[in-house]
Amino acid sequence: MRALLKLLTLDVSDAELMRAQFNSFCGHIPLLYGILVCNTLAITVTSFDPQQIGKTLVSPMLISAVALGRAIWWLRQADAQQFSDAEISGQLKRTCILAVVMTLTFSVWAIWVYQDADGYARSNLTFFLALSQVSTVFCLMTLRAAAMLVALVSTISFALYFSWIDGGIMLPQALVLCCVCVGMAVVTHSFNRTFSELVRSRRTLHLRQLETEKLSEENRRIAFSDPLTGLPNRRELLQRLDQLEACARLGPNSLAVVFIDLDGFKEINDEHGHQAGDALIRSVCQRLSQQCPEHATLARVGGDEFTIVLETHDTAQGAQARALIVALRMLEEIAVPVVVDKHVLQVSGSIGIAANLDGTSPPRELLRRADMAMYHAKTQGKGQIALYSDELDKGRLRRLDIEAQIGGGLSREEFDIVYQPIVDAATGAIVSAEALLRWPRRSQGVLAPDEFIDIAEVTGQIHPLGLYVLERACMELRPFDDLILSVNVSPAQFRHPSFEKQVFAILEATGFPPARLQLEITESYLLANPERALNAVKTFKAQGISLALDDFGTGFTSIHYLRSYGFSNIKMDKSLIVGLEPGNKASLLVTGAITLASALDMEVIAEGVETEMQAEILRKAECHKLQGFLFGRPMALSDFRQHFRDSRGLAGQSLAAAAAQA
Ligand code: C2E
Ligand code: MG
Ligand code: MG
Repeated sequence: MRALLKLLTLDVSDAELMRAQFNSFCGHIPLLYGILVCNTLAITVTSFDPQQIGKTLVSPMLISAVALGRAIWWLRQADAQQFSDAEISGQLKRTCILAVVMTLTFSVWAIWVYQDADGYARSNLTFFLALSQVSTVFCLMTLRAAAMLVALVSTISFALYFSWIDGGIMLPQALVLCCVCVGMAVVTHSFNRTFSELVRSRRTLHLRQLETEKLSEENRRIAFSDPLTGLPNRRELLQRLDQLEACARLGPNSLAVVFIDLDGFKEINDEHGHQAGDALIRSVCQRLSQQCPEHATLARVGGDEFTIVLETHDTAQGAQARALIVALRMLEEIAVPVVVDKHVLQVSGSIGIAANLDGTSPPRELLRRADMAMYHAKTQGKGQIALYSDELDKGRLRRLDIEAQIGGGLSREEFDIVYQPIVDAATGAIVSAEALLRWPRRSQGVLAPDEFIDIAEVTGQIHPLGLYVLERACMELRPFDDLILSVNVSPAQFRHPSFEKQVFAILEATGFPPARLQLEITESYLLANPERALNAVKTFKAQGISLALDDFGTGFTSIHYLRSYGFSNIKMDKSLIVGLEPGNKASLLVTGAITLASALDMEVIAEGVETEMQAEILRKAECHKLQGFLFGRPMALSDFRQHFRDSRGLAGQSLAAAAAQA
């Protein structure tokens, strides 16, 4: 009974199912009413009696009018979208109620007509009744409750009436009607189940489709944006550049590309860990975004690389000028210190700019050119801005050639080491030797170390080169008694997290005493990485290795500052020595620096001493050691060996002479 009641009740729990039912109705119900009107008219025609106008004409006309009215109303409801869920549920309920009312009205009217009809009219009536019932149920099939109610109401009323009239002569018809009703109920039920499943699976499909769309949107976002900063990544930027190329609206002259690379970011990552590096990148990116002008795309194209594509309606020169203003602003923003975990982190930026000055360069080419200009800015001392020019392209090609040749040169043993003596200022004896790298067997011609070392620094090839120099010099100079070996170390080598370990390993492998090794570093490294430098100096000092600051006087470091780092030696740059004359400003300056360094327990080595006069001034100023062409140019090991022996002999003589004089 409960199951039967459930079949007859309207289920309004599933809004989507209701909508689907409603949509299917909009097409079927007008048809249903059409059939009903036809059948009513057919019954009217076959059983019309002028004596009973109310029953055989007025009543069917009223039924037909109501049916037509409803048919027209349904025809107007083109789509369920215009109704809310509540309105649709109301419409379906109304349909169910109206289905029962109309069926009852029609049945009562038909029975009323049936009573006084002759045999011919009755058989017609029975035929049309059956037709109406089947077609109504058929049209209402998607709304199970309505279809079942119509079938039940019409069947019960006629079955009761047929089994009651004429002494039960119509009982077989009543039974057939009941059987048809059961059959229709079964078909309606199974159709309805299929319909509901269809709607449900369509919904599941739709949800899956939405999920897939969401996932693919998410994938797109991940593929085209940088997860750390949310900025467009290289792929997205390239796509944007291609769009700009395809876009006819913008002339090719209106683009400028600014390429930014952070200086010193790698060190921060190595020293403070990736989390600190990430925090720094986020902070820089936030400031860059704030400063990014309108109609510009800021993208993160690498670990510490950013690109700004400026779109302007200006000339190429105008676009370049604007890019320069943006770049200057960006340099300031990048240099703002960031505090992460109580550490003050600071980086600078190297920036390259390319605008379409020749009017023929596609956007991707501008990106390449800006990248190259940035690379040039980096080699010019960092924290700089460089504009692209054709010359850079040529220089770049040359650098690429040299870069490729360095690797091959190392494996073909094209490099050599020469030694330049450093003498004790008082005795003239060689007390140390500076190892200097040479590339004499380069097939394309000899290159000065300054030239290829700069390139090796940028490419990272300085690591194998530097270790080669250290190992070979340690091996070659080990037999030289107490001679100090001075080896140049590039900032890039010093930055390497395992540099200290590598140095200790070489000392162990070659058996070179750490106390005889001195590492020379330049002040640019100290200023860029004070914390890391301090730690490294401490580690080396703890092992007995001494450190010298090379090229002192070319930067801004004060002697006090160097002392705080634990440097034991300062190498005064040759640019300070070259102008020395008795009593001039340069000699006063150098003398003052030597006095101060000595007071702070640091030894001073003067580089580039070429004349006896310079040596004399330096000796008077009590400079500790001297280095320069006056005492010997950088020379091959065999020559150095001879030089060393001679110098030790001479030093012995001068010491003996001094003792005799005393
Ligand atoms: P540096 O460390 O300041 O080396 C001293 C430079 O001054 C050498 O140039 C030397 O030949 C030159 N010099 C010495 N005495 C005089 C002089 O009286 N007058 C003049 N005009 N010059 C003098 P070099 O060998 O061309 O090296 C240039 C720079 O290349 C070095 O400057 C150093 O920074 C770098 N370098 C050389 N070898 C190595 C190396 O093995 N590793 C690293 N990282 N850098 C190296
Ligand atoms: Mg040096
Ligand atoms: Mg030097």
